[in-house]
Amino acid sequence: MKLLAYRDELSGAWNRRFLSACLRREINQSLSARRPLTVMIFDIDDFKQYNDRFGHEAGDEIIREVVRLLQATIRKGDHVCRIGGDEFAVLFCDPEPPRESGSNHPTTVEFLAKRFREQVSRAHFSKLGKDAQGSVSISGGLATFPWDGTEVDSLLRKADERLFESKRHGKNAITIGKNES
Ligand code: GH3
Ligand code: MG
Repeated sequence: MKLLAYRDELSGAWNRRFLSACLRREINQSLSARRPLTVMIFDIDDFKQYNDRFGHEAGDEIIREVVRLLQATIRKGDHVCRIGGDEFAVLFCDPEPPRESGSNHPTTVEFLAKRFREQVSRAHFSKLGKDAQGSVSISGGLATFPWDGTEVDSLLRKADERLFESKRHGKNAITIGKNES
């Protein structure tokens, strides 16, 4: 029952209710472990046009596929939540593993976010037809505890502001922001 209450049926991702509960818990853990915690909010660019041109089913396929790509990119302790029609939040909770010397394993959150954005922009969506490869993109924003906010609402607000900055600057981008002191 609890799982159902926290799941988004269409994509299999967590839902908005889960996001608030989980982010609150993770902030407390980050505080006691004295480690940062990053949240990303992202939104599919021009999503409405896919529904209008190819039908609602095609839109649904994009939502499911974007979540599938994301789940393959993030790490075991991270979480994907669908928080609106075409809007998602990712909690990067997995503490970064120690870097092995000589390894270029993608461990930073910024790198994971960039790789995910690139994967979406290269993906093929069967319901969009043969010529549509490379046509879907996402815009996002990152916010990191404690620099960008120390509470659920302030962190989400900052990530959202940066998402809109990405939209304003022409989309298909993720705004990271600087650690303001
Ligand atoms: P922007 O680049 O600014 O994000 O533009 P957009 O077209 O993505 O933004 P907008 O908010 O206008 O469109 C979101 C659309 O998502 C509108 C709504 O019909 C559609 N939508 C919401 N939920 C679902 C769903 O579950 N399935 C499908 N197929 N469409 C959905
Ligand atoms: Mg959108």
